[in-house]
Amino acid sequence: MDQELDARHAKQLQHLFPVLGPQFSLAILLFSIWDFWRDPANAGDALLIRCLLVALGALVYLPPAARLPPLYRCGFLFVTHICALILAEFMLRDGFLYGLAGITSCLFLVSVMTLQLRAFLAIVAVPTVLLVVLTVQRMPLAETVNQLMLYAFAIALALALMFVIRSFALQTLQLEAQLLKSARHDGLTGVCNRAYLFEQAENAVALARRHRRPLAVAMLDIDHFKRVNDTYGHAVGDSVIRALADTCMSELRTNDRFGRIGGEEFVCVMPETDEAEALQCAERLRNRIGALAVETSAGPLSFTVSVGVAMLRQGCDNWPELLHAADCALYGAKGAGRDRVVLAA
Ligand code: GH3
Ligand code: MG
Ligand code: MG
Repeated sequence: MDQELDARHAKQLQHLFPVLGPQFSLAILLFSIWDFWRDPANAGDALLIRCLLVALGALVYLPPAARLPPLYRCGFLFVTHICALILAEFMLRDGFLYGLAGITSCLFLVSVMTLQLRAFLAIVAVPTVLLVVLTVQRMPLAETVNQLMLYAFAIALALALMFVIRSFALQTLQLEAQLLKSARHDGLTGVCNRAYLFEQAENAVALARRHRRPLAVAMLDIDHFKRVNDTYGHAVGDSVIRALADTCMSELRTNDRFGRIGGEEFVCVMPETDEAEALQCAERLRNRIGALAVETSAGPLSFTVSVGVAMLRQGCDNWPELLHAADCALYGAKGAGRDRVVLAA
């Protein structure tokens, strides 16, 4: 989940960076107006420093830098720009006194730039060292302590903000994952629902066709299921459906896709499976299901399934055709007396 969060955050950063980066650069340059108003004598030198470091930061917009992860590019832009702010402020009379507010407010940009503690600390390390060195060199002890405490407080607040954003983002991600899971899975059995199974089946068929690999589809339907419902009630009917789904899920390979496509009808898509393997697998499922005993008030209940198997081949090389072929084979199995596997003609 954490990796997914970071990947998603990097994507958002990639999106926002071309819009917000230039705005940040502009803000750093526009601070010069303030400098000229406060200390016209030194404002020219400060502007030069601002321009040089903003230009250095702008290197991240060059095409070779575009290959770097967005966090690296943002981090470099931030460090150059905030260093411009710090150096410029120290060139002005009482600059640090006035500039600290601007510097500390910029720190909050790091809280949205990254959601990782390590990256946060790496980004603020260089400006922090620069700030501490300049403050210690240039200011009396009492003011140094005062300014650095304010700066440390701002860092702590920015870090806290980062953790709050991270926790909100994680919650959203978890909620999305839950919603996606319930939208894709069947509420009764937990296996894939019809829509999700079809989506995966289309992909598996396309892949098998492209690489000319075998693929099999098996359709299962419980025999005389209406009788189960009529005799034992719907709750027992539901237990039977769940038992079938659990058995199939434990029998199939991780590569296979299994889902419930109707009341007591299930489909299994088996990539990399030839005809002999598909029939063997279908027989195994039929036997395992036939051996189940679902507990009811009237004692253990056994049931059987009929299975139709269809292979990907010429003339039957897309998902709707394969499904139709498996359905016809299943119909054949029912007609031939049920509790059996039939291969599509
Ligand atoms: P056949 O051997 O020909 O398949 O006979 P069948 O009685 O199984 O016939 P069919 O497949 O048409 O039966 C489907 C029945 O499944 C009808 C419906 O009442 C029942 N059913 C559908 N969905 C559910 C469900 O979610 N729970 C329960 N308990 N029963 C369901
Ligand atoms: Mg049935
Ligand atoms: Mg049915």
